[in-house]
Amino acid sequence: MKILVVEDEERVAHFIQKGLKEEGHAVDVSHDGEDGGFLAEVNDYDLILLDVMLPKKNGISVCREIRDRGITTPVLMLTARDSVEDRVRGLDAGADDYLVKPFAFEELLARVRALLRRQADSKTPTLQMANLELDPITRMVTRGGKPIRLTTKEYALLEYLLRNPHKVLSRTLIGEHVWDMNFDPESNVIDVYISHLRNKIDKGHDIPLLHTMRGQGYILSDHNLPL
Ligand code: CA
Repeated sequence: MKILVVEDEERVAHFIQKGLKEEGHAVDVSHDGEDGGFLAEVNDYDLILLDVMLPKKNGISVCREIRDRGITTPVLMLTARDSVEDRVRGLDAGADDYLVKPFAFEELLARVRALLRRQADSKTPTLQMANLELDPITRMVTRGGKPIRLTTKEYALLEYLLRNPHKVLSRTLIGEHVWDMNFDPESNVIDVYISHLRNKIDKGHDIPLLHTMRGQGYILSDHNLPL
């Protein structure tokens, strides 16, 4: 999943980013309200972690503005004080949940999982192509009913491909969604992961699903492709 973290305390932002990356998420970080609001508008995130006390524009205003623009991405507010007023203002501005700082990282992860699950439930519960299935809730992947073991990054890559079926996805797009906005599209890391993933999902099956479109990128499809 692709997550935006808007937090001005660099130490806290770094700690959150590191932890979420270890869980296999692509994480962008912004250190002020103006920049964070801009990123939330131009990029397609699955979740936004939004601090309340931010330079340039506070989190409540950022949240209200992105909701006014029709962006429905779940927002988890990070508030410094456990004040009822702050929480109510945050929820009124369109936040989905809040967490009082300082928080245990385990609790942050639990809230993130709950929000992503709610988001996934409102979309499609199981992602599927031919006899390949991925359950975003249990994170279980099977082909022809047989379980496939994936690393967190391979899983994130496959989930992104399954959410964009039959579409040619460029290295840049994949890099932005599965890694983060600082991803170097010139590196061959995507090709390496694609090749690992292809071995795991296609090897031994009659219908290959993961295809390379030379010079364009990759596509997950069970249609006949003009390769
Ligand atoms: Ca702050």
